Amino acid sequence: MKAAAFDYTRVTSVEEAIDLLRQHAGSAQLLAGGQSLMAMMNLRLAQPGLLIDISGIADLKTTQVHGSVLRIGALVTHHALLKSDLVARHVPLLAQAVPHVAHLAIRNVGTIGGSLALADPAAEYPAVALALEATIVAQGPRGQRLIPIADYFQGLYQTALQPDEMLVAVEFPLANTEQRFHFDELSRRRGDYAMVGLACAVHMNGSKIKEARLAYLAMGDGPVLATRAMSALQGQALDAASIQKAQQALAQDLSPNGDLQADPATKVHLARVLLGRALNAMGSAS
Ligand SMILES: Cc1cc2nc3c(=O)[nH]c(=O)nc-3n(C[C@H](O)[C@H](O)[C@H](O)COP(=O)(O)OP(=O)(O)OC[C@H]3O[C@@H](n4cnc5c(N)ncnc54)[C@H](O)[C@@H]3O)c2cc1C
Repeated sequence: MKAAAFDYTRVTSVEEAIDLLRQHAGSAQLLAGGQSLMAMMNLRLAQPGLLIDISGIADLKTTQVHGSVLRIGALVTHHALLKSDLVARHVPLLAQAVPHVAHLAIRNVGTIGGSLALADPAAEYPAVALALEATIVAQGPRGQRLIPIADYFQGLYQTALQPDEMLVAVEFPLANTEQRFHFDELSRRRGDYAMVGLACAVHMNGSKIKEARLAYLAMGDGPVLATRAMSALQGQALDAASIQKAQQALAQDLSPNGDLQADPATKVHLARVLLGRALNAMGSAS
């Protein structure tokens, strides 16, 4: 199938893009890397009257340390994240997740902003952002606002972005030496969307866990925090007993629907396997 007819314009500033979104409310859509949107248009799941191509906005392609956060521009590609020394040093969990995103050709053009704006429940970055308590930087006609990640994902492919706003950046807290990170997922083939994935950030206080954040992907309408498993780990050593308790707690945290890849029970089983692997890996990294 081919996309329905649409108008196309290319902008070079955020202000221009927002102005067009406001003028064409309801019928315009932003085009970043096009790796999700073009497929949706070809399947007629999206039929924008106007495509606003933002890929030429240079200001959105930078990655910089700002105080205690790494600010990553919306148009930074998956490939650029993979090659970034700043990401590897300051947001190692994101660096671990990128190789799991799609295939090389898609990583060359797909963007972090596009992924976070789309909010696919099986995507890697939403879970990483939730595990790390990232902040979304949105800009609209009334200026910029910061959206804590806890308020950002609002349901299946739903975010807190308003129709006349765009995501301009995402801010991740800088990693410190007391933290350990692990990302892993299970998919049928490398590069396919995951059946289940897990982003873990564990803050240690000496040999005890001060706080663990466990965010699953492909287990719900958006990224899912396993809060009971997180509580089970708090104040514990990262050892076999605490890992088993956390795995048991998962049964109450996760109630996925089945999908084309796996039924609910299989998904919960795989989630438990991933948690065991992640915590064991982080425990042996001490
Ligand atoms: C075969 C295949 C496999 C894939 N596998 C994976 C995978 O394993 N994991 C994964 O995470 N992704 C996967 N993807 C998707 C890929 O990562 C996309 O690059 C990403 O989801 C969207 O980024 P994009 O820049 O291409 O956005 P686009 O496709 O251009 O846009 C996606 C949506 O976001 C909106 N948007 C884009 N940028 C902004 C912005 N700055 N502000 C507000 N709204 C915006 C658009 O209007 C559109 O609705 C796959 C894609 C394909 C084709």
